[in-house]
Amino acid sequence: MFDQLFIDNDFVPPAAGRRFDAVDPATEQRIATLALADAADVDRAVRSAHHAFATWRRTTPTERTRLLLRAAAVIASRADEIARLETLDMGKPLRESQANVARSVRTFEYAAGATDKLEGQSIPVDARSFNFTHLEPVGVSAHITPWNYPFANACRSLPVALAAGCTAVVKPASETCLSTLLLGDVLREAGFPPGVVNIVTGSGAEAGAALARHPLVRSITFTGSVGTGQQVAHAAADHVRPVVLELGGKNPQVVCADADLDAALKETVRGAFTNAGQVCTGISRVLVERPVHDRYVEALHERVQALTVAPGLDNADLGPLVSAAHRQTVADYVRLAREEGARLVCGGQVPPERERGWFYRPTVFDGVRPDMRIAREEVFGPLLVVIPFDTDEQALAISNGVEFGLSAGIFTRDLGRALRFARDVEAGMVWVNEWFQSPVQVPHGGVKHSGIGREQGFAAFANYLQVKDVAIRFA
Ligand code: NAD
Repeated sequence: MFDQLFIDNDFVPPAAGRRFDAVDPATEQRIATLALADAADVDRAVRSAHHAFATWRRTTPTERTRLLLRAAAVIASRADEIARLETLDMGKPLRESQANVARSVRTFEYAAGATDKLEGQSIPVDARSFNFTHLEPVGVSAHITPWNYPFANACRSLPVALAAGCTAVVKPASETCLSTLLLGDVLREAGFPPGVVNIVTGSGAEAGAALARHPLVRSITFTGSVGTGQQVAHAAADHVRPVVLELGGKNPQVVCADADLDAALKETVRGAFTNAGQVCTGISRVLVERPVHDRYVEALHERVQALTVAPGLDNADLGPLVSAAHRQTVADYVRLAREEGARLVCGGQVPPERERGWFYRPTVFDGVRPDMRIAREEVFGPLLVVIPFDTDEQALAISNGVEFGLSAGIFTRDLGRALRFARDVEAGMVWVNEWFQSPVQVPHGGVKHSGIGREQGFAAFANYLQVKDVAIRFA
Protein backbone atom coordinates (compact mmCIF):
# COMPACT_ATOMS: atom_id res chain seq x y z
CA MET A 1 0.00 0.00 0.00
CA PHE A 2 2.69 2.54 0.99
CA ASP A 3 4.67 2.24 -2.24
CA GLN A 4 1.64 3.30 -4.28
CA LEU A 5 -0.56 6.30 -4.88
CA PHE A 6 -4.21 6.40 -3.85
CA ILE A 7 -6.26 7.23 -6.95
CA ASP A 8 -9.89 6.33 -7.67
CA ASN A 9 -10.10 4.31 -4.43
CA ASP A 10 -7.24 2.10 -5.55
CA PHE A 11 -3.61 1.91 -4.56
CA VAL A 12 -1.80 2.23 -7.91
CA PRO A 13 1.88 2.37 -8.88
CA PRO A 14 3.38 5.67 -10.05
CA ALA A 15 3.55 5.92 -13.86
CA ALA A 16 7.33 6.21 -14.05
CA GLY A 17 7.88 3.56 -11.34
CA ARG A 18 10.08 5.84 -9.25
CA ARG A 19 10.29 5.33 -5.48
CA PHE A 20 11.82 6.91 -2.37
CA ASP A 21 12.33 5.86 1.25
CA ALA A 22 10.38 6.62 4.40
CA VAL A 23 12.78 6.72 7.35
CA ASP A 24 12.14 6.41 11.10
CA PRO A 25 13.72 9.54 12.63
CA ALA A 26 14.33 7.71 15.91
CA THR A 27 16.47 4.96 14.37
CA GLU A 28 17.44 6.33 10.91
CA GLN A 29 16.18 3.00 9.51
CA ARG A 30 14.09 2.70 6.36
CA ILE A 31 10.53 1.77 7.32
CA ALA A 32 8.79 1.83 3.93
CA THR A 33 9.22 2.52 0.26
CA LEU A 34 7.03 5.24 -1.21
CA ALA A 35 5.81 6.20 -4.65
CA LEU A 36 7.48 9.28 -6.12
CA ALA A 37 4.71 10.89 -8.15
CA ASP A 38 5.40 13.05 -11.18
CA ALA A 39 3.19 15.52 -13.04
CA ALA A 40 1.49 12.68 -14.97
CA ASP A 41 0.46 10.98 -11.70
CA VAL A 42 -0.82 14.25 -10.29
CA ASP A 43 -2.80 14.80 -13.48
CA ARG A 44 -4.37 11.36 -13.10
CA ALA A 45 -5.33 12.09 -9.49
CA VAL A 46 -6.81 15.50 -10.31
CA ARG A 47 -8.78 14.07 -13.24
CA SER A 48 -10.17 11.37 -10.97
CA ALA A 49 -11.29 14.05 -8.49
CA HIS A 50 -12.71 16.15 -11.32
CA HIS A 51 -14.69 13.22 -12.67
CA ALA A 52 -16.01 12.31 -9.19
CA PHE A 53 -17.07 15.90 -8.53
CA ALA A 54 -19.93 15.70 -11.03
CA THR A 55 -21.66 13.11 -8.83
CA TRP A 56 -20.34 14.08 -5.40
CA ARG A 57 -21.62 17.66 -5.68
CA ARG A 58 -25.15 16.30 -6.18
CA THR A 59 -25.15 14.07 -3.08
CA THR A 60 -27.56 15.22 -0.40
CA PRO A 61 -26.26 16.83 2.79
CA THR A 62 -27.58 13.81 4.69
CA GLU A 63 -25.56 11.40 2.56
CA ARG A 64 -22.41 13.44 3.12
CA THR A 65 -23.08 13.68 6.86
CA ARG A 66 -23.45 9.92 7.16
CA LEU A 67 -20.25 9.22 5.23
CA LEU A 68 -18.27 11.76 7.24
CA LEU A 69 -19.56 10.26 10.50
CA ARG A 70 -18.65 6.82 9.25
CA ALA A 71 -15.14 8.09 8.49
CA ALA A 72 -14.92 9.48 12.04
CA ALA A 73 -15.96 6.09 13.40
CA VAL A 74 -13.44 4.19 11.25
CA ILE A 75 -10.63 6.56 12.31
CA ALA A 76 -11.62 6.04 15.95
CA SER A 77 -11.67 2.27 15.52
CA ARG A 78 -8.20 2.31 13.89
CA ALA A 79 -6.79 5.05 16.14
CA ASP A 80 -4.04 2.91 17.62
CA GLU A 81 -2.79 1.75 14.21
CA ILE A 82 -2.77 5.32 12.86
CA ALA A 83 -1.10 6.82 15.94
CA ARG A 84 1.68 4.19 16.01
CA LEU A 85 2.38 4.69 12.32
CA GLU A 86 2.48 8.47 12.81
CA THR A 87 4.99 8.17 15.63
CA LEU A 88 7.15 5.73 13.69
CA ASP A 89 7.19 7.98 10.62
CA MET A 90 7.32 11.45 12.20
CA GLY A 91 8.93 10.79 15.56
CA LYS A 92 6.53 12.50 17.96
CA PRO A 93 5.66 10.86 21.31
CA LEU A 94 2.89 8.30 20.97
CA ARG A 95 0.50 10.16 23.31
CA GLU A 96 0.76 13.21 21.01
CA SER A 97 -0.05 11.09 17.94
CA GLN A 98 -3.02 9.65 19.82
CA ALA A 99 -4.25 13.15 20.64
CA ASN A 100 -3.80 14.19 16.98
CA VAL A 101 -5.90 11.23 15.84
CA ALA A 102 -8.62 12.02 18.40
CA ARG A 103 -8.68 15.60 17.14
CA SER A 104 -9.06 14.33 13.56
CA VAL A 105 -12.11 12.32 14.61
CA ARG A 106 -13.57 15.56 15.98
CA THR A 107 -12.94 17.42 12.71
CA PHE A 108 -14.82 14.79 10.73
CA GLU A 109 -17.68 14.97 13.24
CA TYR A 110 -17.73 18.76 13.14
CA ALA A 111 -17.79 18.83 9.34
CA ALA A 112 -20.47 16.12 9.32
CA GLY A 113 -22.74 18.36 11.38
CA ALA A 114 -22.39 21.28 9.00
CA THR A 115 -23.49 19.83 5.66
CA ASP A 116 -27.14 20.91 6.07
CA LYS A 117 -26.33 24.30 7.59
CA LEU A 118 -24.52 25.82 4.62
CA GLU A 119 -27.36 28.16 3.75
CA GLY A 120 -27.71 30.96 1.25
CA GLN A 121 -29.68 34.17 1.78
CA SER A 122 -32.86 35.69 0.49
CA ILE A 123 -32.21 39.31 -0.47
CA PRO A 124 -34.96 41.95 -0.77
CA VAL A 125 -34.75 43.78 -4.11
CA ASP A 126 -38.16 44.92 -5.42
CA ALA A 127 -41.85 43.94 -5.29
CA ARG A 128 -41.75 41.78 -8.42
CA SER A 129 -38.64 39.74 -7.81
CA PHE A 130 -37.19 37.07 -5.63
CA ASN A 131 -33.45 37.16 -5.22
CA PHE A 132 -31.54 34.49 -3.40
CA THR A 133 -28.02 33.20 -3.06
CA HIS A 134 -27.01 29.60 -3.34
CA LEU A 135 -23.72 28.21 -2.01
CA GLU A 136 -22.14 25.77 -4.40
CA PRO A 137 -18.95 23.72 -4.04
CA VAL A 138 -15.99 25.10 -6.00
CA GLY A 139 -14.82 21.76 -7.44
CA VAL A 140 -11.54 19.91 -6.98
CA SER A 141 -9.67 21.08 -3.87
CA ALA A 142 -5.94 20.59 -3.35
CA HIS A 143 -4.57 20.01 0.15
CA ILE A 144 -0.81 20.37 0.53
CA THR A 145 0.35 19.52 4.05
CA PRO A 146 3.57 19.78 6.10
CA TRP A 147 5.40 17.10 8.07
CA ASN A 148 4.75 18.20 11.64
CA TYR A 149 1.09 17.08 11.96
CA PRO A 150 0.69 14.82 8.91
CA PHE A 151 -2.58 13.11 9.81
CA ALA A 152 -4.19 15.97 11.73
CA ASN A 153 -3.34 18.53 9.05
CA ALA A 154 -4.80 16.42 6.28
CA CYS A 155 -7.87 15.95 8.46
CA ARG A 156 -8.09 19.67 9.25
CA SER A 157 -9.11 20.77 5.77
CA LEU A 158 -10.23 17.61 3.97
CA PRO A 159 -13.49 16.90 5.88
CA VAL A 160 -14.55 20.52 5.47
CA ALA A 161 -14.00 20.37 1.71
CA LEU A 162 -15.89 17.08 1.47
CA ALA A 163 -18.77 18.39 3.58
CA ALA A 164 -19.05 21.38 1.25
CA GLY A 165 -19.37 19.02 -1.74
CA CYS A 166 -15.84 19.32 -3.12
CA THR A 167 -13.60 16.44 -4.10
CA ALA A 168 -9.93 16.42 -3.19
CA VAL A 169 -6.32 15.60 -3.94
CA VAL A 170 -4.03 15.49 -0.91
CA LYS A 171 -0.25 15.84 -1.15
CA PRO A 172 1.55 15.10 2.16
CA ALA A 173 5.12 16.24 2.89
CA SER A 174 7.67 13.79 1.52
CA GLU A 175 9.13 13.28 5.04
CA THR A 176 5.87 11.90 6.44
CA CYS A 177 3.48 10.20 4.02
CA LEU A 178 2.42 7.04 5.81
CA SER A 179 -0.55 8.14 7.92
CA THR A 180 -2.00 10.14 5.03
CA LEU A 181 -1.90 7.04 2.80
CA LEU A 182 -3.62 5.15 5.59
CA LEU A 183 -6.31 7.85 5.54
CA GLY A 184 -7.07 6.79 1.95
CA ASP A 185 -7.63 3.26 3.16
CA VAL A 186 -9.81 4.55 6.02
CA LEU A 187 -12.01 6.62 3.72
CA ARG A 188 -12.45 3.73 1.31
CA GLU A 189 -13.47 1.54 4.25
CA ALA A 190 -15.93 4.24 5.33
CA GLY A 191 -17.56 4.02 1.90
CA PHE A 192 -16.46 7.18 0.09
CA PRO A 193 -16.96 6.72 -3.66
CA PRO A 194 -13.95 6.41 -6.01
CA GLY A 195 -12.21 9.67 -6.87
CA VAL A 196 -13.70 11.77 -4.08
CA VAL A 197 -10.35 11.67 -2.24
CA ASN A 198 -7.01 10.99 -3.94
CA ILE A 199 -3.55 11.00 -2.38
CA VAL A 200 -0.26 11.59 -4.17
CA THR A 201 3.13 11.23 -2.51
CA GLY A 202 6.35 12.71 -3.83
CA SER A 203 8.50 15.79 -3.70
CA GLY A 204 7.14 19.27 -3.21
CA ALA A 205 9.10 20.66 -6.13
CA GLU A 206 7.61 18.13 -8.54
CA ALA A 207 4.31 16.64 -7.28
CA GLY A 208 3.40 19.60 -5.04
CA ALA A 209 4.12 22.16 -7.75
CA ALA A 210 2.23 20.10 -10.37
CA LEU A 211 -0.80 19.98 -8.08
CA ALA A 212 -0.69 23.70 -7.28
CA ARG A 213 -0.61 24.66 -10.94
CA HIS A 214 -3.06 22.06 -12.28
CA PRO A 215 -5.81 23.92 -14.18
CA LEU A 216 -8.62 21.65 -12.92
CA VAL A 217 -7.86 22.44 -9.25
CA ARG A 218 -10.34 25.09 -8.07
CA SER A 219 -9.04 25.81 -4.55
CA ILE A 220 -5.77 25.26 -2.74
CA THR A 221 -5.28 24.81 0.98
CA PHE A 222 -1.60 24.99 1.79
CA THR A 223 0.11 24.52 5.16
CA GLY A 224 3.86 24.97 5.29
CA SER A 225 6.66 27.49 5.13
CA VAL A 226 6.42 31.09 3.94
CA GLY A 227 8.66 30.59 0.89
CA THR A 228 6.69 27.62 -0.44
CA GLY A 229 3.44 29.40 0.40
CA GLN A 230 4.49 32.28 -1.81
CA GLN A 231 5.18 29.90 -4.69
CA VAL A 232 1.81 28.22 -4.23
CA ALA A 233 0.08 31.62 -4.15
CA HIS A 234 1.75 32.49 -7.47
CA ALA A 235 0.49 29.23 -8.97
CA ALA A 236 -3.01 29.97 -7.63
CA ALA A 237 -2.91 33.45 -9.14
CA ASP A 238 -2.04 32.05 -12.57
CA HIS A 239 -5.39 30.27 -12.67
CA VAL A 240 -7.31 32.88 -10.63
CA ARG A 241 -8.38 30.63 -7.79
CA PRO A 242 -8.51 31.03 -4.02
CA VAL A 243 -5.74 29.89 -1.75
CA VAL A 244 -5.59 29.42 2.00
CA LEU A 245 -2.10 29.77 3.39
CA GLU A 246 -1.32 28.48 6.89
CA LEU A 247 2.32 29.46 7.36
CA GLY A 248 4.89 29.90 10.09
CA GLY A 249 5.10 31.84 13.33
CA LYS A 250 7.43 33.39 15.90
CA ASN A 251 4.87 33.40 18.64
CA PRO A 252 5.31 35.48 21.80
CA GLN A 253 4.14 34.50 25.26
CA VAL A 254 4.06 37.58 27.50
CA VAL A 255 4.45 36.76 31.19
CA CYS A 256 3.53 39.66 33.48
CA ALA A 257 4.83 39.94 37.02
CA ASP A 258 1.27 39.63 38.40
CA ALA A 259 0.61 36.30 36.64
CA ASP A 260 0.22 32.89 38.26
CA LEU A 261 3.86 32.15 37.49
CA ASP A 262 3.63 28.44 38.06
CA ALA A 263 0.76 28.11 35.58
CA ALA A 264 2.61 30.34 33.10
CA LEU A 265 5.74 28.24 33.41
CA LYS A 266 3.90 25.00 32.77
CA GLU A 267 2.47 26.51 29.60
CA THR A 268 5.88 27.86 28.54
CA VAL A 269 7.32 24.36 28.67
CA ARG A 270 4.29 22.77 26.98
CA GLY A 271 4.01 25.56 24.40
CA ALA A 272 7.69 25.50 23.48
CA PHE A 273 8.47 21.78 23.51
CA THR A 274 5.33 19.93 22.41
CA ASN A 275 6.21 17.95 19.27
CA ALA A 276 9.87 18.90 19.97
CA GLY A 277 9.00 22.52 19.16
CA GLN A 278 7.91 21.64 15.62
CA VAL A 279 4.58 23.42 16.00
CA CYS A 280 3.52 26.47 14.00
CA THR A 281 1.58 27.90 16.98
CA GLY A 282 4.20 26.94 19.59
CA ILE A 283 5.88 29.43 21.90
CA SER A 284 9.20 30.53 20.45
CA ARG A 285 9.67 33.77 22.41
CA VAL A 286 8.83 34.23 26.07
CA LEU A 287 8.72 37.87 27.13
CA VAL A 288 9.10 38.13 30.92
CA GLU A 289 8.46 41.28 32.96
CA ARG A 290 11.75 42.42 34.49
CA PRO A 291 10.93 42.02 38.24
CA VAL A 292 10.26 38.27 37.84
CA HIS A 293 12.64 37.61 34.95
CA ASP A 294 15.55 36.03 36.85
CA ARG A 295 13.28 33.86 38.98
CA TYR A 296 11.37 32.73 35.89
CA VAL A 297 14.52 31.81 33.96
CA GLU A 298 15.84 29.84 36.91
CA ALA A 299 12.60 27.85 37.23
CA LEU A 300 12.49 27.35 33.45
CA HIS A 301 16.03 26.02 33.52
CA GLU A 302 15.10 23.48 36.19
CA ARG A 303 12.03 22.22 34.31
CA VAL A 304 13.54 22.09 30.83
CA GLN A 305 16.64 20.31 32.05
CA ALA A 306 14.42 17.58 33.49
CA LEU A 307 12.66 16.90 30.15
CA THR A 308 13.39 13.50 28.65
CA VAL A 309 14.33 12.89 25.02
CA ALA A 310 13.74 9.42 23.54
CA PRO A 311 12.03 7.58 20.64
CA GLY A 312 8.36 8.49 20.28
CA LEU A 313 7.19 4.98 21.08
CA ASP A 314 8.83 5.36 24.54
CA ASN A 315 6.55 8.34 25.18
CA ALA A 316 9.28 10.62 26.51
CA ASP A 317 8.75 14.40 26.71
CA LEU A 318 10.38 14.95 23.31
CA GLY A 319 10.91 12.60 20.37
CA PRO A 320 13.51 13.11 17.62
CA LEU A 321 13.34 15.91 15.06
CA VAL A 322 11.85 14.92 11.73
CA SER A 323 15.04 14.71 9.66
CA ALA A 324 18.80 15.08 9.75
CA ALA A 325 18.52 18.26 7.68
CA HIS A 326 16.05 19.80 10.09
CA ARG A 327 18.21 18.97 13.10
CA GLN A 328 21.10 20.68 11.33
CA THR A 329 18.93 23.79 10.86
CA VAL A 330 18.21 23.85 14.60
CA ALA A 331 21.90 23.35 15.44
CA ASP A 332 22.78 26.20 13.07
CA TYR A 333 20.38 28.51 14.91
CA VAL A 334 21.94 27.51 18.23
CA ARG A 335 25.35 28.48 16.88
CA LEU A 336 23.90 31.75 15.56
CA ALA A 337 22.35 32.55 18.96
CA ARG A 338 25.75 32.12 20.59
CA GLU A 339 27.41 34.28 17.93
CA GLU A 340 24.79 36.97 18.47
CA GLY A 341 25.67 37.04 22.17
CA ALA A 342 22.67 35.23 23.69
CA ARG A 343 23.31 33.22 26.89
CA LEU A 344 22.67 29.49 26.75
CA VAL A 345 20.52 28.49 29.75
CA CYS A 346 20.28 24.79 28.91
CA GLY A 347 20.33 22.32 26.02
CA GLY A 348 22.10 23.39 22.84
CA GLN A 349 23.35 19.93 21.97
CA VAL A 350 22.55 16.45 20.71
CA PRO A 351 21.89 14.25 23.78
CA PRO A 352 25.16 12.32 24.25
CA GLU A 353 23.30 9.08 25.03
CA ARG A 354 21.44 9.14 21.67
CA GLU A 355 23.90 7.97 19.06
CA ARG A 356 21.29 7.16 16.45
CA GLY A 357 18.21 9.17 15.56
CA TRP A 358 17.84 12.90 15.02
CA PHE A 359 17.43 13.92 18.64
CA TYR A 360 18.16 17.35 20.09
CA ARG A 361 18.01 18.59 23.69
CA PRO A 362 15.34 21.22 24.46
CA THR A 363 17.19 24.51 24.42
CA VAL A 364 16.66 27.87 26.15
CA PHE A 365 18.54 31.11 25.48
CA ASP A 366 18.40 34.11 27.77
CA GLY A 367 19.79 37.63 27.29
CA VAL A 368 18.16 37.84 23.87
CA ARG A 369 17.56 41.22 22.27
CA PRO A 370 14.53 41.67 19.99
CA ASP A 371 16.74 42.71 17.08
CA MET A 372 18.71 39.44 17.02
CA ARG A 373 17.90 37.03 14.21
CA ILE A 374 17.25 34.34 16.80
CA ALA A 375 14.43 36.54 18.15
CA ARG A 376 12.87 37.18 14.74
CA GLU A 377 13.20 34.06 12.56
CA GLU A 378 11.19 30.86 12.85
CA VAL A 379 13.38 27.95 14.01
CA PHE A 380 10.57 25.38 14.21
CA GLY A 381 12.45 23.25 16.69
CA PRO A 382 13.09 22.88 20.44
CA LEU A 383 14.59 26.35 20.84
CA LEU A 384 13.08 29.00 23.10
CA VAL A 385 14.37 32.54 23.62
CA VAL A 386 13.70 34.65 26.73
CA ILE A 387 13.41 38.43 26.36
CA PRO A 388 12.87 40.76 29.35
CA PHE A 389 10.46 43.73 29.18
CA ASP A 390 9.69 46.74 31.39
CA THR A 391 6.37 48.17 30.15
CA ASP A 392 3.27 46.85 28.42
CA GLU A 393 4.00 49.10 25.43
CA GLN A 394 7.41 47.52 25.11
CA ALA A 395 6.00 43.98 25.36
CA LEU A 396 3.53 44.80 22.60
CA ALA A 397 6.18 46.40 20.38
CA ILE A 398 8.44 43.35 20.76
CA SER A 399 5.52 40.99 20.11
CA ASN A 400 4.56 42.85 16.94
CA GLY A 401 8.12 43.52 15.82
CA VAL A 402 8.46 40.43 13.62
CA GLU A 403 7.10 39.55 10.19
CA PHE A 404 4.90 36.76 11.58
CA GLY A 405 1.53 36.99 13.33
CA LEU A 406 0.16 33.54 14.05
CA SER A 407 -0.53 33.03 17.79
CA ALA A 408 0.26 35.18 20.83
CA GLY A 409 -0.51 34.95 24.52
CA ILE A 410 -0.44 36.94 27.73
CA PHE A 411 -0.37 35.68 31.29
CA THR A 412 -1.69 38.17 33.85
CA ARG A 413 -4.37 38.50 36.54
CA ASP A 414 -5.26 41.98 35.22
CA LEU A 415 -8.16 41.64 32.76
CA GLY A 416 -7.67 45.15 31.36
CA ARG A 417 -4.04 44.42 30.60
CA ALA A 418 -5.00 41.16 28.90
CA LEU A 419 -7.73 42.76 26.80
CA ARG A 420 -5.51 45.65 25.69
CA PHE A 421 -2.92 43.10 24.54
CA ALA A 422 -5.57 40.98 22.80
CA ARG A 423 -6.84 44.08 20.99
CA ASP A 424 -3.46 45.38 19.87
CA VAL A 425 -1.31 42.33 19.20
CA GLU A 426 -0.88 41.37 15.54
CA ALA A 427 -1.89 37.71 15.57
CA GLY A 428 -4.64 35.48 14.26
CA MET A 429 -5.09 33.74 17.63
CA VAL A 430 -4.66 35.24 21.10
CA TRP A 431 -4.62 33.17 24.26
CA VAL A 432 -4.94 34.55 27.80
CA ASN A 433 -3.57 32.49 30.70
CA GLU A 434 -3.43 29.36 28.55
CA TRP A 435 -1.76 28.12 25.38
CA PHE A 436 -2.82 25.98 22.37
CA GLN A 437 -6.52 26.76 22.77
CA SER A 438 -7.59 26.00 19.23
CA PRO A 439 -10.26 23.27 19.17
CA VAL A 440 -11.67 22.31 15.78
CA GLN A 441 -14.68 24.65 16.02
CA VAL A 442 -12.64 27.87 16.32
CA PRO A 443 -10.88 29.65 13.43
CA HIS A 444 -7.18 28.93 12.97
CA GLY A 445 -4.81 31.10 10.96
CA GLY A 446 -2.50 34.05 10.96
CA VAL A 447 -1.84 37.59 9.81
CA LYS A 448 1.17 39.15 8.06
CA HIS A 449 3.56 36.45 6.83
CA SER A 450 1.76 33.79 8.87
CA GLY A 451 -0.83 33.41 6.18
CA ILE A 452 -4.06 34.19 4.42
CA GLY A 453 -7.50 32.85 5.33
CA ARG A 454 -8.69 30.59 8.11
CA GLU A 455 -9.10 26.87 8.63
CA GLN A 456 -11.27 25.28 11.34
CA GLY A 457 -14.56 26.66 12.57
CA PHE A 458 -17.52 27.54 10.44
CA ALA A 459 -15.59 30.20 8.52
CA ALA A 460 -13.54 27.45 6.85
CA PHE A 461 -16.48 26.25 4.75
CA ALA A 462 -16.17 29.44 2.71
CA ASN A 463 -12.83 28.09 1.42
CA TYR A 464 -14.73 25.45 -0.55
CA LEU A 465 -17.92 27.27 -1.53
CA GLN A 466 -18.78 29.97 -4.00
CA VAL A 467 -21.82 32.20 -3.93
CA LYS A 468 -24.26 32.14 -6.83
CA ASP A 469 -26.94 34.79 -6.91
CA VAL A 470 -30.27 33.91 -8.57
CA ALA A 471 -32.75 36.65 -9.54
CA ILE A 472 -36.38 35.73 -10.41
CA ARG A 473 -38.93 38.13 -11.86
CA PHE A 474 -42.46 36.84 -11.24
CA ALA A 475 -44.90 39.53 -12.31
P1 NAD B 1 7.32 23.24 3.34
O1 NAD B 1 6.85 24.55 2.86
O2 NAD B 1 8.71 22.84 3.06
O3 NAD B 1 6.40 22.07 2.76
C1 NAD B 1 5.01 22.06 2.93
C2 NAD B 1 4.38 21.22 1.84
O4 NAD B 1 4.57 21.87 0.58
C3 NAD B 1 4.97 19.82 1.67
O5 NAD B 1 3.95 18.91 1.33
C4 NAD B 1 5.92 19.99 0.51
O6 NAD B 1 6.17 18.79 -0.18
C5 NAD B 1 5.13 20.95 -0.37
N1 NAD B 1 5.91 21.73 -1.34
C6 NAD B 1 7.24 22.02 -1.31
N2 NAD B 1 7.56 22.77 -2.39
C7 NAD B 1 6.43 22.96 -3.10
C8 NAD B 1 6.11 23.67 -4.29
N3 NAD B 1 7.05 24.33 -4.98
N4 NAD B 1 4.83 23.68 -4.71
C9 NAD B 1 3.86 23.05 -4.01
N5 NAD B 1 4.10 22.35 -2.88
C10 NAD B 1 5.38 22.31 -2.42
O7 NAD B 1 7.01 23.24 4.91
P2 NAD B 1 7.43 22.12 5.96
O8 NAD B 1 8.89 22.25 6.22
O9 NAD B 1 6.87 20.80 5.57
O10 NAD B 1 6.60 22.61 7.24
C11 NAD B 1 7.10 23.50 8.18
C12 NAD B 1 6.44 24.85 8.03
O11 NAD B 1 5.02 24.70 8.09
C13 NAD B 1 6.77 25.79 9.17
O12 NAD B 1 7.04 27.05 8.66
C14 NAD B 1 5.50 25.79 10.01
O13 NAD B 1 5.33 26.95 10.79
C15 NAD B 1 4.45 25.66 8.98
N6 NAD B 1 3.19 25.15 9.55
C16 NAD B 1 2.12 26.00 9.64
C17 NAD B 1 0.93 25.56 10.20
C18 NAD B 1 -0.27 26.47 10.33
O14 NAD B 1 -1.37 25.99 10.59
N7 NAD B 1 -0.11 27.78 10.18
C19 NAD B 1 0.81 24.23 10.64
C20 NAD B 1 1.91 23.40 10.52
C21 NAD B 1 3.10 23.87 9.97
